Amino acid sequence: MQPTRSPATHEVDLLVIGAGAGGMAAALAASLMGLEVLVCEKAAQVGGTAATSAGTIWIPGNRQSREAGFEDSADAARRYLDGLLADPADGRALREVYLARGPAVVDWFAERSEVRFVPCGRHPDYLDRDGAAVSGRALVAAAYDGRRLGAAFADVRPPIPEFMVFGGMMVGKDDIPRLVNRFASVANFMHAARLFARYVGDRLRHPRGTRLVMGNALVARLYASLLQRKVPVRLGTRLESLSSENGRVTGARLRDGQDVFEVRARRGVVLATGGFARDAASRQRWMPVPAPVDSMAVPSDTGDGIAAALAAGAQASGRSHGSGAFWTPASRTGRDTSKGQWAGLFPHLSLDRAKPGLIAVNGAGRRFANEADSYHHFIEAMFASHARTPPIPAWLVCETRFVQTYGLGAIHPGTTDLRPHLLAGCFVAAPSLGHLAQAMNVDAAGLAETVARHNRFAETGVDEDFRKGHSELNRFNGDPAHGPNPCIGRIGDGPYCAMAVWPAEIACSSGLETDAQARVLDAAGQPMPGLYACGNDLASIMRGTYPGPGTTLGPALVFGFLAAEHAASQPAEVDTPAERTDAATAATTAAESLTA
Ligand SMILES: Cc1cc2nc3c(=O)[nH]c(=O)nc-3n(C[C@H](O)[C@H](O)[C@H](O)COP(=O)(O)OP(=O)(O)OC[C@H]3O[C@@H](n4cnc5c(N)ncnc54)[C@H](O)[C@@H]3O)c2cc1C
Repeated sequence: MQPTRSPATHEVDLLVIGAGAGGMAAALAASLMGLEVLVCEKAAQVGGTAATSAGTIWIPGNRQSREAGFEDSADAARRYLDGLLADPADGRALREVYLARGPAVVDWFAERSEVRFVPCGRHPDYLDRDGAAVSGRALVAAAYDGRRLGAAFADVRPPIPEFMVFGGMMVGKDDIPRLVNRFASVANFMHAARLFARYVGDRLRHPRGTRLVMGNALVARLYASLLQRKVPVRLGTRLESLSSENGRVTGARLRDGQDVFEVRARRGVVLATGGFARDAASRQRWMPVPAPVDSMAVPSDTGDGIAAALAAGAQASGRSHGSGAFWTPASRTGRDTSKGQWAGLFPHLSLDRAKPGLIAVNGAGRRFANEADSYHHFIEAMFASHARTPPIPAWLVCETRFVQTYGLGAIHPGTTDLRPHLLAGCFVAAPSLGHLAQAMNVDAAGLAETVARHNRFAETGVDEDFRKGHSELNRFNGDPAHGPNPCIGRIGDGPYCAMAVWPAEIACSSGLETDAQARVLDAAGQPMPGLYACGNDLASIMRGTYPGPGTTLGPALVFGFLAAEHAASQPAEVDTPAERTDAATAATTAAESLTA
């Protein structure tokens, strides 16, 4: 497959800005509906933060899970969401269309392109509330063979180094227990051997492994589908500003190096530049004060789409989304930044915090949260308690044997020699709790009391302070072989170690207000003709709440599709050549096939 790049396409039906999950979904849907599309991507590779993500989408009532035996319904999800939101009326129209059409949109892509998902099976929602599901809602992108992209494989942004082993092999969530326990069964050993043999073969020809999983599989699937349809994707080309005529967005001014040019868009422009994560001023404006400085987003997500839309008169959600983003605790990994990589962060999403034998403490050496809660809720607790006793950074405290058993941050389970990580400054270690407290610069008496109290909870299995282990999610990420509580284990006589974690967002929540067809709204709440947003440029339909896994990529795909569908249903702003597909008819057909 050869990438098709358009050097000078100056008029198209739909101009899509940003080749992450949202932008490529919008472009693919529009192309499948018969529109002439141009995608412009600021970075040298496609994929954005989506390429570095876990690639899970939260689609209540999806067919794939139902067929695998996991029942769920949009009604239950609606009750669940309504229970989470302070004001369920806020954004309801967008959530309704998401619930109503999400499953069909996923099927629509699967039937027409490479974009396919498989059920995660058991993958609990993040809060135990009425309507929450333990299984059936989460889908993950099916693994993809990067070799199928040919030379265009090089165009796909790799995952962060911390998510790969042996310097380039991707490991999916399902692979981890099989690799860690590779000597426990013949099946595990064969699985590990196959992955390794494939990887060795890959490295003879490719800069990294070609078995793509999670978010990297998702973006490779989107990109491969665009290339199959010969949709031009201009890399290294960024949006500078939007162009308008008579109150309608008619295109954009773009920059490719020194080359600045205009593209006219007959049916509209889709903003999908990944949100404001890397724009310091927007972080101050929309995040908790003082705004956290760490971000898991790719460096090119600097809020360009939002800024251009605001300059054209759009409306943003402002501070109405709680903490303005979806958060994770992240440790700093001492990554080698000399090769142009941005500073290393490891997101503590699900592998370590819920395991027995770990606590998180603040500057007073005291716990401040249920360590096993979702990454987002853990950080919300961190923000809430920071005003009283600074837990930023917080410390994850455990014995070194915990690290060897379960891993800690970027240190994989089974690692016997922790010294390289210690030397890189990833954690501190000490033979006694007193010395550890000194190394962490936290109150030693407080830490000793906290550990003693926690060890009493380990015996009874009941966390009287923060209810660690109480929820489906807590137990799902705990150790099922440990009792009486799979999330609480005694912290013994050492040696000990502690890793500092800071809040870092995996996605922005605040963004441009849109209607349920992804049309950007102006200051008066009216749709701006010709302007759409999706992905994190669109204010999250969850309004700052975090219901479950896949809360941003699911809406990115669905609202990317909806933007394309609406654009395709519109008359072209300038005459469309007769030989071009009748896009309005194609969009109507798409809508009919989804509501059938
Ligand atoms: C470790 C991690 C795990 C995650 N796991 C999940 C998960 O499992 N499920 C989930 O739902 N979410 C997950 N997320 C969040 C998810 O990755 C993001 O919400 C998602 O990628 C946002 O998609 P997007 O298309 O808006 O932005 P992106 O994927 O970041 O794409 C935006 C693109 O726009 C480009 N761009 C920026 N400015 C311009 C410009 N001026 N002109 C042209 N192009 C521009 C950028 O270079 C980038 O390529 C995870 C995030 C992280 C960090």
